[in-house]
This record gives sequence, structure tokens and C-alpha cells, in this order.
Amino acid sequence: MKKKTIIYTCPYVPAEWIAAHGFCPSRIIPKAAGNPIVPMEGVCPYVQAFVNQVTTSREATAVVMTTVCDQMRRAFDIVTSSCKLPGFLMNIPSTWQHVGAQKLYLEELKRFGRFLVTLGGKTPSNKFLTEIMLEYNNARSSILAMRKYLTSSQYSQTIATFNRDGKEAVSWTLPKDKPPMAGTSLAIIGGPLLEESFSLFDEIENYGGRIVLDATETGERGICGHFDMDKHQDDPLRELADTYFCIPDVFRRPNNRLYDWLKEQLANREVRGIILWRYMWCDMWHAEVHRLKKWTELPVLDIDVNANEKGLSVRTHLRIQAFVEMLQ
Ligand code: SF4
Repeated sequence: MKKKTIIYTCPYVPAEWIAAHGFCPSRIIPKAAGNPIVPMEGVCPYVQAFVNQVTTSREATAVVMTTVCDQMRRAFDIVTSSCKLPGFLMNIPSTWQHVGAQKLYLEELKRFGRFLVTLGGKTPSNKFLTEIMLEYNNARSSILAMRKYLTSSQYSQTIATFNRDGKEAVSWTLPKDKPPMAGTSLAIIGGPLLEESFSLFDEIENYGGRIVLDATETGERGICGHFDMDKHQDDPLRELADTYFCIPDVFRRPNNRLYDWLKEQLANREVRGIILWRYMWCDMWHAEVHRLKKWTELPVLDIDVNANEKGLSVRTHLRIQAFVEMLQ
């Protein structure tokens, strides 16, 4: 029998916790909302696209949304009043330095577990949760190791496919030849990508660049760290919570973990320029433009994406092309 699917988009929702309750976790990649089902004014195009996808989903058993930004929080009310899908709003503390914030996140996971039980799920034993966590640990390590063997587009899509459809959907066969490593090395950082956005990676290669670090929410930045199963042997949920709680993100206060993570990654990959991917109406990433430019000595291209239309605008394409050419 096919397992019931729980859909979400936020990286702070642990797939392992959903899977351990007997459901299929699916971190969806929405399509741009060309014709919004529930039109919303002045809203980030990603939120609009997510609402569109959720309210028209025929596969999902429930949706989980989080409080990482006000627009998503508001979108939760819209989703739950526009469709019959059961919804769970998970509180993610923006502060992180106090132990109380970590405890709150752990309590939210327990509350989420009780919600899953109301949908027919089963509270997992520690042994079963540990098995699932190890499975995900191994799959994620294998995917991260594939980076050097795939094009930037293949690599980012592999991460997204794994998060959306699980490891069965990933193509584990590596190409015989490594992809050519030519091109100006670039990083992309920002919010989550829409389904249409993945073509950007190939387009950048056509212009003579190469994304060597996908630090969007959909890419490597949105992957949790490696679980240390020896640390909390009798309490795997604690290890799950501690690891997911450390995912670096812009909404954190303070958000210096994002910059610490970025510093380490940029140093390892000899990046020559950064593309900041932010959606129109997203205050969170907009506020970061100035800080990022001050923080790094690398050139930064700030692109504001209005992805309600299919694909990127001609203007955005030209700006990316000019940026790559400038760095050559
Ligand atoms: S891109 Fe910005 S506004 Fe949109 S969901 Fe992410 S944080 Fe919220």
C-alpha cells in the first residue's frame, strides 16, 4: 500500500521524523504560479507558488508550514481556509543561542509527532528512528560526494529530488566521465528555487560560468548536518533536533551562522563571484544585500526575481551574463 504523503518546504522540518511515523516526506519544489488559485497582493512569488501547489495537491495527506517568515505564517491561514488539507504550523525559534530556544524546537517536534499520530501515524521507537536517521545520513553523504561527478544543474536537482521524492528517485549511477570543470566559479545564495529556476545553472554555464556552491535553501545550505548517533544514544530525537536546529539561515537572530557557514564553503571552492537570489517582496533577503556586500570582498550580483511569470526576465538573464563576462 502506498504511504501517505506529508508535504512541506522548510528545511527545518525533518524528513526522518515524518518517515519514522510511517509517512512519505515530500519537500516540494513548486512551479511558478502563473495563474494564482488564491491571488495574494505583495507576496513573495515563492510563497504564492507554494500556496498554489498545496491548495491543488491531490497526493498530499497533510501540509506542514513553519514560522520562519511572516509571509509563510500568513500563508498558513490562507492554505487552511482555502482547502481541506489538514495543516500543521510549526514554530521555529529565530533565536538560537539560548538553550530554551533549542528546547522549544524539540517540543515542537514532539507536538508535530502527535499531529502525525492523529493522521494515522505511529510514534516510532528509538530503534526505528535511529535506523531511519542512519539511512538518511548515508543517502545525504552519498549525494554530497557526487558533487564532483555531476554538472551544477544535475547536482542541485539531485539534492532537490532526494528531498522531494526520497532516495528511490535519485539516479545513483555516476556518469563515466567527470564533467568539464571549466568556467568561472560562482556561488548562488538565497531563498528556495522554483522548479523553473533550475535551468539557470545550465544558462550560467553557457555564459562561461559554473555554480560551484549552491547555497540556496533548495541546495546544500538547506541540508542538515551529519548525525552523530553516539552523542545521544538513548535519545535519537534529541540528536535529530540538535542537528536540524543548526541549519544556517537568514531568518536567525543573530544570523552569523549563515556567514560562518558561507565563509567555510567559499574558501573551499575558490569562488570568484556571488549571485544573491532573492524574490521581490522578500524583506528578509533584501535586508541582507548590503550586509553581504560589506562582508565579502567578492563581487556580488543582487538579482530580484519576480518569478510569477514563467522563467526569468530578459533583463535578469542579461545581468547574469554581464556579471559572468566581467569576471572572466
Ligand atoms: S523567499 Fe523570503 S518571503 Fe519568500 S518564503 Fe523565503 S523567507 Fe519567506
